[in-house]
Amino acid sequence: MHATIDLSRYRTPLANLDAVDPNDAGPYATDDDGREAAAEDLDELIERMAELQRKFYADGRFALLLVLQALDAGGKDGTIRRALSGLNPQGVRVRSFKRPTELELAHDFLWRIHQAAPRKGEIGVFNRSHYEDVLVVRVDGLVPEDVWRRRYEHIVAFERLLHDAGTHFVKVYLHIDRDEQRERLQKRLDDPSRHWKFDANDLRVRAQWDDYRAAFAEMFARTGHEPTPWLIVPANRKWYRDLVVATAMVEAMEALDLRWPEPSVDLSAFTVGD
Ligand code: ATP
Ligand code: MG
Repeated sequence: MHATIDLSRYRTPLANLDAVDPNDAGPYATDDDGREAAAEDLDELIERMAELQRKFYADGRFALLLVLQALDAGGKDGTIRRALSGLNPQGVRVRSFKRPTELELAHDFLWRIHQAAPRKGEIGVFNRSHYEDVLVVRVDGLVPEDVWRRRYEHIVAFERLLHDAGTHFVKVYLHIDRDEQRERLQKRLDDPSRHWKFDANDLRVRAQWDDYRAAFAEMFARTGHEPTPWLIVPANRKWYRDLVVATAMVEAMEALDLRWPEPSVDLSAFTVGD
């Protein structure tokens, strides 16, 4: 490795949106040499993640859940595609949370979330999550304030329940600034291979920027404590964003003291033979 990223700078409750620069590149230079070092480090992290996943799967005592939140064009899809590219798909479950269906709306807001939680040995990825219920729901006024306000407590209790049952969280907010979002949305208008990603609604959401910032700030303050802190990831530079998320996944698994399960029988009694 050329460099190691100090994640504590990005972790709530100490980190906040004003304290993390979306352009930050951490210990890496932003010239060609820095980019090359970063690319090599990402390859190495991806390899380590793959190794750790094998043991994590075999161990089977824990689940890991990566929660990805961002504004439109924040890079959730690209992060999954790049930073997690070394994982064995067999042990991964990705779930994208869209507008709730009629059936989902007929239940409490965590009903659909709980069903998608990863089982032991599995890595779950939430592309958007239960946090939409204190973000878009708050900003668009989809339910009364006293309803969404109580959700912070519900979320903290819910995550504690999962944590007590062996689920470790990596909660990531991809932090881009307004200029970067403009460029990325413009690309969706200009590049025919990205037209399908354009959603007129994204422009409406962009106009609500300040409301979203307020909603994110309160979300970090209320749901960003141990054992499930948020990581505010500088995400203007995609290559650095991928490095931070990969580092977080590797460190989360390394912290688990994983072990290979003991064989259930005395292996010395067996020979494979011809
Ligand atoms: P991309 O960022 O690549 O466009 P996306 O995650 O925005 O992908 P879309 O299908 O465009 O995917 O949008 C999903 C929509 O569902 C978002 O506008 C999001 O706010 C909305 N959504 C998700 N969860 C909820 C919820 N609980 N209540 C209301 N809307 C929700
Ligand atoms: Mg969208």
